[in-house]
Amino acid sequence: MNLSEVELSVSINFSLTILEKLHMKRAVICFVILLISSVLWGQPAKQYAMVIHGGAGVMERENMTSEVQDEYIAVMNRVLQVGDSVLAHGGTCMDAVEKSIMIMEDSPLFNAGKGAVFTHDGIVELDASVMEGKSLKAGAIASVRDIKNPVSVARAVMEKSEHVMLNGLGASQFAKDQGFEPVDNSYFYTEKRFKSLQEFLKKEREATTNDKHGTVGCVALDRYGNIAAGTSTGGMTNKKYGRIGDSPIIGAGTYANNKTGGFSCTGHGEYYIRLGFSRDISALMEYKKLSVTEACREEIGKLTEMGGTGGVIGLDKEGNIAMEFNTSGMFRGYIKSNGEKEVAIFK
Ligand code: ASP
Repeated sequence: MNLSEVELSVSINFSLTILEKLHMKRAVICFVILLISSVLWGQPAKQYAMVIHGGAGVMERENMTSEVQDEYIAVMNRVLQVGDSVLAHGGTCMDAVEKSIMIMEDSPLFNAGKGAVFTHDGIVELDASVMEGKSLKAGAIASVRDIKNPVSVARAVMEKSEHVMLNGLGASQFAKDQGFEPVDNSYFYTEKRFKSLQEFLKKEREATTNDKHGTVGCVALDRYGNIAAGTSTGGMTNKKYGRIGDSPIIGAGTYANNKTGGFSCTGHGEYYIRLGFSRDISALMEYKKLSVTEACREEIGKLTEMGGTGGVIGLDKEGNIAMEFNTSGMFRGYIKSNGEKEVAIFK
């Protein structure tokens, strides 16, 4: 090998080493990017949480037998168990919200689905809504008479229609088109709710004096850091003229935003609508930097000042829970991935 050949070979080896180093560098950069993105998007975050309510109202311990208390507690425990299992297995917050609310809709204990209250005309008209905090997508139905699980149809409105809220016959038609089996209105008959309507009619009291709210709701934070909220109700006993409360109204009875939290309300709907209740809680957190508990408490304060009654559940992106109400009780509970859990009825 003469000198120029040696020089050539050294320069080729040198270039190869540079190329190899460049490739190595690129490979390392790609690996780091992949690792970061899998941590950020692919891998579930560690913590999840879920909070539920089954309505707020005048509930004195002495007026509720221990058997009835146990019945409510058993259903709420089951709901938390099912929601926990959905979230623990990497299910989404919307799956947890829908499944949890469906259980309460199927129970005759709560004023939603099977246990819904009667209107003035002795029929059942149901409202429900859901919202996703990541996309701010939402779906709702109001005044439906033949839907067994309104929360699922509300979810279908969000996912399969270009609308946010459908009403009455149109909502029922949409549900049928989506493959939901209609049920006869008599499916919703329960003696307890029928008697309660008769009492209202006898006393000629207006629905606005109703002091027990049995709406159901759920808010969940999943392992991906997303929040969803949902609410389902029969409204208020003795309601007239196609009255619609806050439960199917996004920003009143239900709201979710990953930036702040998710909220579901129960109470005298007219006040919640006028306050823009759940959207206002989110605004208090976003603009005033209040914690989820402080914001819910402040909003309940506004409700009290206006003369309204009810409660709200909420959670934030860290999984902090709020369960606030100005009545003597609210069926409520929460569960967290760290094993923390609570189920309660009275103040
Ligand atoms: N908020 C519901 C409504 O006004 C009633 C309730 O929570 O019980 O329709």
